[in-house]
Amino acid sequence: MNIFFLLLALSGYPGQAVVVDIPFEPELEAVTLVWQAQEIQMAPADAGWFALLGVDLDVTPGPYEVDAVFRYAGNRQEHRRLALTVTPKEYPTTHLTVEPKYVELSPANQERAAQEKKRINAAYATTAAEPYWTDVFIVPIPGVTGGRNFGHRRVFNDQPRAPHSGADLTATTGAEVRATNRGRVVLTGDFFFNGNAVFVDHGMGVLSMYLHLSSILVEEGQLLERGELLGLAGATGRVTGPHLHWGVKVTGARVDPFTLPGFTAEIANN
Ligand SMILES: [Zn+2]
Repeated sequence: MNIFFLLLALSGYPGQAVVVDIPFEPELEAVTLVWQAQEIQMAPADAGWFALLGVDLDVTPGPYEVDAVFRYAGNRQEHRRLALTVTPKEYPTTHLTVEPKYVELSPANQERAAQEKKRINAAYATTAAEPYWTDVFIVPIPGVTGGRNFGHRRVFNDQPRAPHSGADLTATTGAEVRATNRGRVVLTGDFFFNGNAVFVDHGMGVLSMYLHLSSILVEEGQLLERGELLGLAGATGRVTGPHLHWGVKVTGARVDPFTLPGFTAEIANN
């Protein structure tokens, strides 16, 4: 077995969705990538093959490798490795002092949240091998790009919390929330932290979530078109006011939704 390093230098920062493009090759029939223990089938694209890899917020900057298996006609296959450099990215940290009753959960709520986390993690693991989408991603509330707090860290009473894993889009209760891209609804429900929530699988390891809704207008199993109405914004769950928490996972990693294809580098880095 030969191992090649492709002349393909990928780079990304913690919280970024990284585009992988492999150029067309004669007789190449399938490409499988393995990144952070996740297996991804590349999708055929105009001039070759395409996939997205998520770099999680907790990935330590440095050099990484992505294993790739190229399958050709006649059962021929080659193993290759792609170099992926994870560059550092600083996210803001806010220190807050609050009364303990605002940050401590009752045992009943802790139990509820733990059970719900299992259901949500099962939904995250439900991704179709092939992408449902062929077009770029859009903002779920058209025109709103404010509320860019992905990756922000809050420390309550000297106890660090998990970094914020989505973008809190400015929204009033009742604002229409639309699917960021074509995909299938894999979970809906009323959750302790998330309130009324919709989780959508876009295939090929990409999932999006829409939290704190005042109402849910879709059902599990439903296939949504890009831009299709899925719910109305609200303030359900553990929040202080109405907004849309829009989160995205790519290959199991928490990424800033604004790093998906369809948003300019200016927006992604803002
Ligand atoms: Zn949020």
